[in-house]
Amino acid sequence: MKVNFIDIKAQEKEIGRDSERLIKNVLGRADFVLGQDVKLFEKEFSDYCGTRFALGVNSGTDALFLSLLASGIGRGDEVITPVFTFIATAFAVSYTGAKPVFVDIDECTYNIDPERIEKAITKRTKAIMPVHLYGGPADLGPILKIANRYGLKVIEDAAQAHGALYKGKKVGSFGATGCFSFYPTKNLGGLGDGGIVTTSNKKIYDKLFLLRDCGRKKRYEHLIKGYNSRLDTLQAAVLRVKLKKLDKWNAARRKNARLYDSLLKDTGINTPFESKDCRHVYHQYVIRSKNRDRLLDECRKKGIAAAIYYPLPLHLQPAYKELGYKKGSFRCAEKIAKEVLSLPMHPYLTRQQIECVADTLKKAV
Ligand SMILES: *Cc1c(COP(=O)(O)O)cnc(C)c1O
Repeated sequence: MKVNFIDIKAQEKEIGRDSERLIKNVLGRADFVLGQDVKLFEKEFSDYCGTRFALGVNSGTDALFLSLLASGIGRGDEVITPVFTFIATAFAVSYTGAKPVFVDIDECTYNIDPERIEKAITKRTKAIMPVHLYGGPADLGPILKIANRYGLKVIEDAAQAHGALYKGKKVGSFGATGCFSFYPTKNLGGLGDGGIVTTSNKKIYDKLFLLRDCGRKKRYEHLIKGYNSRLDTLQAAVLRVKLKKLDKWNAARRKNARLYDSLLKDTGINTPFESKDCRHVYHQYVIRSKNRDRLLDECRKKGIAAAIYYPLPLHLQPAYKELGYKKGSFRCAEKIAKEVLSLPMHPYLTRQQIECVADTLKKAV
């Protein structure tokens, strides 16, 4: 049985008609740039997250980058990020001229370990960027406490965690800003690139408003050196349709996760940890095993699209060799990078598919 990593076709079947209708409306109005659906989607997304504002941008990477700029971060500053994440988290810091300072992760949650943050703080530190990796919220309570004590901004990388909850509240509503990606494979994905920043801080919102659109409030009056980083109206139209389905889709992901959990129990394979404080949304369902490479091989042979996210922590990436980290600098991340394996996870998986994946793993472990 072939098991795909995502199922875009099934999604298209479910929402194709509704999104085509909204796309047609955009074509009729021809308001392709910052049109009506962008404004409506921003309102709907901020309501969904429980923040005062949301501002559409052209990618999750730019959501992070512009958030840092709007928080006044730049050359000479340091920003703390987890060492185990998609590289865009750190790139966003580098684009501002600031330096990413990596912190090791917690072995259970794979998120930044709050207990190791204080040691990484210097007088140049301006912000902490927790990542809600794989859809599981970072431990925001202690992170916000440390940030308060040292006067640091918290910028949440929620690119994998649309709809996830920490102590009953949506991620993306805790920090100065929350940053989301609409890359097609994310829990809420568009038909191309897109992103959004959530915030309840009016000053940051006003700054972001200028930064994403050429530094202007009015036509041809440019107040600052801004960027071209807008969410397309066509993307916003599709995302409005999909946002209505997000909770249902996340619930289906969670149901699939529970089935994987039960089928993989007592096999020696480590299944994801879910803290009782959090509602995980399983952007990825990630197992761990010392025999990871063998498990991956077996899956591939069977046509099961398992994959490794991420094989190399950021401190060992060639792009960051100038930071001077060495092998052994972050033992937990290095160990976990050798053991993690993401199993197929999307709302349309069938019981038979999940059983087939679990059987394959059980035989190979
Ligand atoms: C996807 C992702 C991003 C970047 O989003 P893009 O829309 O691809 O620019 C940033 N951080 C994390 C953790 C991601 O998964």
